[in-house]
Amino acid sequence: MSDEERPLREALVAALRRLDTLGMNRGSTGNLSHRSATGQGLWITPTGMGAGEIGADDLVWLDFDGRSRGRWKPSSEAPFHQAVYAARPDLHAVVHCHSVNATALACLRRGLPSFHYMVAVAGGDSVPCVPYHLFGTEALSRAVAAAFVDRDACLLANHGLVAAGPTLAKAMKVALEIESLAEVYLKALAVGEPARLDAAQMAEVIEKFRHYGQPAPGGA
Ligand SMILES: [Zn+2]
Repeated sequence: MSDEERPLREALVAALRRLDTLGMNRGSTGNLSHRSATGQGLWITPTGMGAGEIGADDLVWLDFDGRSRGRWKPSSEAPFHQAVYAARPDLHAVVHCHSVNATALACLRRGLPSFHYMVAVAGGDSVPCVPYHLFGTEALSRAVAAAFVDRDACLLANHGLVAAGPTLAKAMKVALEIESLAEVYLKALAVGEPARLDAAQMAEVIEKFRHYGQPAPGGA
């Protein structure tokens, strides 16, 4: 197998270990993928292996028709990773996990409303929770693809969290932020119904985030 994308595979393994270290990935429940630089497919973590057992050579190459190459089978959740890439050509990395707080919220079948300005990290004024469908099914892929039309993340009812980004670092940032927001939201809900920011307040934040990290107009 060509080794030119080895750095990309190593970055995926490092990200999976980071999720593990942060307690966001338990056992083999988390999976990550990255679009191949050739644009022909993606690299994804193998099915049924824990973060500590996976090395760069264990990642599986999968084309967009579902044909895989590698020593292991791709994650059984590969179909919704593929659905995200098909729905959003601008996204290049997908992170999925069953982190405790995002999953607890997903088990309540609740998404994140505009209770905190950082909810805009996923590109809108909420993070939706898509209806429950069995993992690996076409129905779940369709639901995830629909959520990603205008968001970079969603919760999966009675399942977990999916976050994506134009880079692996950005996808990880969105996943970590949503897990943290879910923790805060659950704590606030235990006391009462948190106040919501209105549409104009969220639009302001979304606009500000859009220009975050970009050079100033006319600047070098
Ligand atoms: Zn899962």
